[in-house]
Amino acid sequence: MTQRLSCDSLWLGADLVTLRDGRYQIIHDGALAVAEGKIAWAGPQAQLPAYNADTTTHFDGGIITPGFIDCHTHLMFGGDRSDEFEQRLNGVSYADIAANGGGILSTVRATRAATEQQLVESARQRLALLLAEGVTTVEIKSGYGLDIDSEVKMLRAIRQLAAQVPAQVVATCLAAHAVPPEYAGRADAWITTLSDQLLPQVAREQLADAVDAFCEHLAFSPAQVKTLFNTATQLGLPVKLHAEQLSALGGSALAARYHALSADHLEYLTEEDVQAMAASGTVAVLLPGAFYLPRETQRPPVELLRQYGVPMAIASDANPGTSPALSLRLMLNMACTLFRLTPEEALAGVTYHAAKALGQQASHGSLEVGKVADFVHWPIARPAELTYWLGGQLPCTTVYRGSVRHGTV
Ligand SMILES: [Zn+2]
Repeated sequence: MTQRLSCDSLWLGADLVTLRDGRYQIIHDGALAVAEGKIAWAGPQAQLPAYNADTTTHFDGGIITPGFIDCHTHLMFGGDRSDEFEQRLNGVSYADIAANGGGILSTVRATRAATEQQLVESARQRLALLLAEGVTTVEIKSGYGLDIDSEVKMLRAIRQLAAQVPAQVVATCLAAHAVPPEYAGRADAWITTLSDQLLPQVAREQLADAVDAFCEHLAFSPAQVKTLFNTATQLGLPVKLHAEQLSALGGSALAARYHALSADHLEYLTEEDVQAMAASGTVAVLLPGAFYLPRETQRPPVELLRQYGVPMAIASDANPGTSPALSLRLMLNMACTLFRLTPEEALAGVTYHAAKALGQQASHGSLEVGKVADFVHWPIARPAELTYWLGGQLPCTTVYRGSVRHGTV
């Protein structure tokens, strides 16, 4: 006698795109059962065992995917930089904008001036747009405070937002985003300050889930990142890295040596870097928005990443300068058109592999028994439509931890 399935809710009438191990793996006419916020059964409806369900939802076709995961954002910041966007299009150079106090330092000033509550509210409005497109997990980085108090303020604001919205919010400490103006020419001293003061506080107060840095000529060297990673590792904090965006410094290989969750951007990644990432299981997070807006021409080496089996995630990199992106689905399209990913790879990049980039592949990112019941119903015929339609908003029903998410946040 087969055991009777007992669940809180049952979802029928749609195809399941499971994304197990990052593959489409479509189950036609599927059934999904949820108990206590987790997936209790997933498979063809024809094989569904006898069951008790408190509620049953019948969809009229369509597909169900795992909830989308945006694994790299800078969604929290003061002000915006639309004025600089306009100035550049009117012929003002980056150098002149920077000389007039523009660029990242203008965001740092606005973020320092904002209260914790103001940061929560402005980030909430931007987050609402991401969530409307089926995002159930989002990572948000600090990195616009660039002094101890302002970085702590940002991280507390991210934690506060996390407690208020129907989505999982993961916090990352990116205090090594840029050299603070007060430390101009003394990047080593800022790294020492972070290692001695900020990171111990972050670990003690559990303000962040990981530590990130920007490894580039205009930010921090591999040696400085190494110092930061040593401290993070000693404190038990996982690491990740903005690497190889504008030049090849070997940051990705360094990150791989520290078993980083991910290395992100990667336009100038070398084959040696790819091999190191493959060996350590480090996810390659590709950010097509930050390639598109500044009209970059060097593409990340997708062929090499495929060849060595490095998992590829896609994220919005939502930030006020290089990628003011508020649509993860648009990033899926850009990953296909600009970076030549297949629709299957792109979809895996915002589900299974994005979960891995956050160290959560055991609990999130695919429709499998035992995983958190975060999923989305889309009234479309084929998963490739998620990467195909350009702009607009596809209607969808988002289920977060087993319950339908209604309204805005
Ligand atoms: Zn970034």
